[in-house]
Amino acid sequence: MLNVPSQAFPAPGSQQRVAAGGRSKVPLKPGRSLMDWIRLTKSGKDLTGLKGRLIEVTEEELAKHNKRTDCWICIRGLVYNITPYMEYHPGGEDELMKAAGADGTELFDQVHRWVNYESMLKECMVGRMALKPFAALKESCPIVSEENRILNGLFSKKKVPDNYSKEAVPSYDWFQTDGSITVVIYTKQKDMNSELVIADLQERKLRGELIVKDYSYLLHLELSYAVHEDMIGLYYRKCRLLSKTNVSHDTQLFCLALPLGTHLLVPVGHHVYLRQTITGTEIVKPYTPVPSFLVSTFKNPCHDDQLHIFFIIKIYPSGLFTPVLDALQIGEYISVSNPEGNFMKSQMEDVEDLFLLAGGTGFTPMVKLLSCALTSSNNLRAVKFMFFNKTEDDILWRNQLEQLALNDARFEVQFVLSEPKKGWKGKEGKISSSLLSQFVKRSKCDSKVLICICGPPPFMEQGIQFLQDLGYSSKEIHCFTA
Ligand code: FAD
Ligand code: NAD
Repeated sequence: MLNVPSQAFPAPGSQQRVAAGGRSKVPLKPGRSLMDWIRLTKSGKDLTGLKGRLIEVTEEELAKHNKRTDCWICIRGLVYNITPYMEYHPGGEDELMKAAGADGTELFDQVHRWVNYESMLKECMVGRMALKPFAALKESCPIVSEENRILNGLFSKKKVPDNYSKEAVPSYDWFQTDGSITVVIYTKQKDMNSELVIADLQERKLRGELIVKDYSYLLHLELSYAVHEDMIGLYYRKCRLLSKTNVSHDTQLFCLALPLGTHLLVPVGHHVYLRQTITGTEIVKPYTPVPSFLVSTFKNPCHDDQLHIFFIIKIYPSGLFTPVLDALQIGEYISVSNPEGNFMKSQMEDVEDLFLLAGGTGFTPMVKLLSCALTSSNNLRAVKFMFFNKTEDDILWRNQLEQLALNDARFEVQFVLSEPKKGWKGKEGKISSSLLSQFVKRSKCDSKVLICICGPPPFMEQGIQFLQDLGYSSKEIHCFTA
């Protein structure tokens, strides 16, 4: 494998435009959106320069294509000519150039292994890397499946005597990397040496013979299937849309039924990816599931939340993904991934003052957090939530928030509007140092504080800066990003 810098590799058209972890969004020229890219890939143009021919690419050949005007990269053994994609990449050309003429798998995986690059770049595929003899296993990446781990024949060649002890039968285990499978055999014999083991790997079958004391044992293992990309990456299951309920004029609560046999509880502060095919290309976007109510009366997730998964989603009429979600009919299916996220429950341990700052749908990670903090945190003295929206009509679950503030003396909510209509008596403006300095105050001078922030990228960037200027450490600030 070639070495590639372990840098971020933002993916097309998704929330990776958030400048998280040092990544930056690069303004794209007009006509270079994800939708434009999809259109180009469907136009029938020859994007590889090979007129649809697929070739075997050697490392030497790959290395030659390392210029902006002629750029090939390899992801998981497949080589793509990404020259035409350069201008469409939201993370910018420089990011892509880090893998130019090289293996970009690691670089890609570090940030967005969930992105379906295969679908996105399929028209750019040049071919596959030529196999070096040693790389053969890596290419097909076989796995020994649970069902085929059965020892098909571990037996004594000699007649088994009456005093034969089952414990003397060797046992085995196996582990796998992306390039090899190692089978470990335990014999309980002290002086095992390599002459006592004969192994043959032919086609997909391993035949091992080992001689232990007076017996010869035969181990027969068969590789069951090759691991495909979708097995390694995030796992998706299809969930049925059960209901859509208006939460505000442009935002809906989606209730999806998990398939029977699926157990999926999304940890607090984590999100999942929803995946759908839009004009022939698979698109994924992150969404943070919410409990069905702001604060459940149960400490453990209620039965309902184990069968269903709920999302509060704002529909952007000119967006790529949400209009398709909006058009999803009751009974139709959408794919939901496993959870991901950088928030750890331990961050809430011993917290005395919890401050939540959300802009618009940045509200969603706060819901479970609030519920979790108020129901299970022992030391908590105060939870203060400052919710930034454009207008009063945009405030999500306002009634529930106000009700909660009435019910629990530790909880306080403040609404701040950036585009208030006449008659609004509450706070106005956008996130600012003066708003935060009054709001984010320790209840005692040494209290343990956690400040969570989520919303539009500029909102988060400014918020973090203001908080740092106010003297809060990065350990005390958590920013929700994908
Ligand atoms: P997009 O195509 O991304 O467009 C969104 C808006 O921006 C549109 O109005 C569009 O016209 C405008 N726009 C797009 N590109 C440009 C541009 N270059 N210049 C100017 N304007 C532009 N959202 C929720 O509603 N609920 C959630 O629970 C939720 N959870 C999230 C969790 C995480 C970790 C992250 C990172 C994001 C989350 N989001 C959530 C946001 C969500 O992932 C999508 O970004 C959102 O739904 C918009 O998707 P879209 O494809 O419809 O819109
Ligand atoms: P919006 O455009 O309605 O804005 C809501 C408020 O955010 C505004 O009233 C304003 O106070 C503030 N704001 C917006 N733009 C700002 C700017 N440029 N500078 C300072 N403050 C600004 O918000 P929306 O359409 O609901 O968008 C919500 C955002 O939250 C999206 O970008 C979404 O991706 C993000 N989000 C992230 C997560 C996550 O877990 N990371 C979860 C949900 C939503």
